[in-house]
Amino acid sequence: MPNLRVLDNCGWDGRILAVGLDDLVQSFIVVTRRFNVLVDTMVNQETALELVDLARQAGPGRELLAVNTHADWDHFWGNQIFAAPILAHRLAAERALDLRAREDLREHAAREPERYAGVRLTPPNVLFDERLTVDGGDLTLELLRTPGHTIDHIAVYLPEVGLLLAGDAAEEPFPLVGDRGCLTALRASLRAMRDLRPRHALYCHAPVETGPALLDRNLRHFDEMERRCRSGLDFSLLEATGGRTDLPGFYAESHARALELMRRLIR
Ligand SMILES: [Zn+2]
Repeated sequence: MPNLRVLDNCGWDGRILAVGLDDLVQSFIVVTRRFNVLVDTMVNQETALELVDLARQAGPGRELLAVNTHADWDHFWGNQIFAAPILAHRLAAERALDLRAREDLREHAAREPERYAGVRLTPPNVLFDERLTVDGGDLTLELLRTPGHTIDHIAVYLPEVGLLLAGDAAEEPFPLVGDRGCLTALRASLRAMRDLRPRHALYCHAPVETGPALLDRNLRHFDEMERRCRSGLDFSLLEATGGRTDLPGFYAESHARALELMRRLIR
């Protein structure tokens, strides 16, 4: 029984297919005149092969190219099946084999051996730093560095059809920043993607009907977080509530928390 499902097109160009694996993750197929480009490779050999089959049906007779938006497990664990070039940021190749990646795989394989025991960590093999252009003949794929969620993250923009594949740099309700990510970089990446003014935006972890407004919503979320931290750091508030004996301890604690968060927001 197939694991993958081609998701309904909500009005974007029909050469781009959104493919879902349950509620876990979405990858994308871009059918250009020259190549079938797979943006992310799913979670294991089996799902990657299904993705390739779907691409071959959508665009018969074309060479394959693969892209990794970043080297988190749900985006590159299908890499091992590809003889084709796999494009990614330079740091993704390091992250794909680092200690954390190996631990992730050990944990997943212990929990769900039938799904993950066969995964062989396979780094991308065509690497770039800031941006890379793939000329598909009729569609161009601009691969753009968009760090923050992780340091190696890239997004893909297709200018001819105004479509952005944002990866995990934007997410419903907001993108995650792990210990290898950075909030300042993430906010800059969100602004850069919003400034492209895409007509359509697709995400790896949001419904396909979400649309580009999510970029603004994510930005407002972090702006509001900063505003609240700043007001929490405002000592005039403490004066205004003077006289309450329980306040200093409470305030010292929330002040420390606000400071820590501020450091992450505007570092
Ligand atoms: Zn993800």
